[in-house]
Amino acid sequence: MDISHLLTPHSRNMEASLVRELLHYSQQPDVLSLAGGLPDESLMPAYPELKPLTDSRQYGPSEGEKDLRECIVSIVADRGIETFTDNVLVTNGSQQGLDIVSRLILDDSSTILTEQPTYLAACQVFKLQGAKVQDVLSDAEGMSVSALRDAIEKYRPKAVYLIPNFQNPAGHCYSLLRRREIAALLDEQNILLIEDDPYRDLCYDSVDLTPISTLIKQAPWLYMGSFSKVLWPGLRTGYIVSCDAFSPYLVKVKQAVDLHTNRLAQNMITHFFKSGQYPDHVTKLQKAYKEKRDVMADALNVELGDLIEFSLPAGGMFFWVKLPEGVSSQLVLTEALKDKVLVLPGTPFFPCESSLEDAFLRLSFARVSPTQILKAIKVLAKVIRQLA
Ligand code: PMP
Repeated sequence: MDISHLLTPHSRNMEASLVRELLHYSQQPDVLSLAGGLPDESLMPAYPELKPLTDSRQYGPSEGEKDLRECIVSIVADRGIETFTDNVLVTNGSQQGLDIVSRLILDDSSTILTEQPTYLAACQVFKLQGAKVQDVLSDAEGMSVSALRDAIEKYRPKAVYLIPNFQNPAGHCYSLLRRREIAALLDEQNILLIEDDPYRDLCYDSVDLTPISTLIKQAPWLYMGSFSKVLWPGLRTGYIVSCDAFSPYLVKVKQAVDLHTNRLAQNMITHFFKSGQYPDHVTKLQKAYKEKRDVMADALNVELGDLIEFSLPAGGMFFWVKLPEGVSSQLVLTEALKDKVLVLPGTPFFPCESSLEDAFLRLSFARVSPTQILKAIKVLAKVIRQLA
């Protein structure tokens, strides 16, 4: 597959770091390496009681730890993505995955298409590269296929960025039909898909979760995952799985931006997966978050059912609430804060100007207890009724 038309002129000519390329030789026991700036392990402080730390002292491969990449191959295989370790890049959270991809393909001559609304920090990264971010009408089943076709014809974008499962902020989950239609359109138009999937394990109802990347036959694709929502966000660990053509370019950017992802974080995650605890852990998360989601849904219906609109998210962390006509999300934020309840106005999730910008709130049910949810929604109801 030729992806050279997708790369910016700078990334097309990017050179790999010789030092990083040579690193794997220095890990062979019979090679005496006078290359590279690797410190002497024997002089590092010893923490024998913390084995993962001992295993993580030296510089590591830019692609990520081999063991973790093998784990990721098997994680995504369960989702239907058949790949191998060469096509897995471990990143500093999926946020860095977005940054790396943006550096590779976007500059001020490019346009990228997103859902409307979409993840605000993705737009920040795309815009930082100078790209134009164009949103495309989306509904409860995801991005509208006819609107996507029109936007592709009008803007000739470098890529389409989608969050098909339990989207941030709207909570929607694409139907299988919509996934198929989008994959077929991207194939027909040969447009790169960037599929961002950090919430998929936080699934509470039975819905289709087929990665669109697996439905694509010939167009280029990149699939991003994260351990932030299911394990430890502070460890900043995520990954990009790519179609073959992309991997060598992605790793060169990774080399250039931070050499590699923190090895201690990677080893802790590998350790957790190898311990076999992950399936039970996910079951625990799903049970707890589902309960909170249901408490928030009931509270919103009871307290505000006559005034607001929302759909029940089948997974993830968010309710996307449409306020009554004329009620400003900014004002709700200010007023609710007086009663010590913090809500997020939907405004920053609209990459392009929209009349709907001020009409939504994003409410997360993940970190508050059921009792706190009830209390917060009562405050919110009081504020919204006063403003309506
Ligand atoms: N993509 C989406 C859709 C997100 O919601 C988030 C986190 N809020 C990220 C990416 C970044 O996650 P990470 O912690 O893995 O960088």
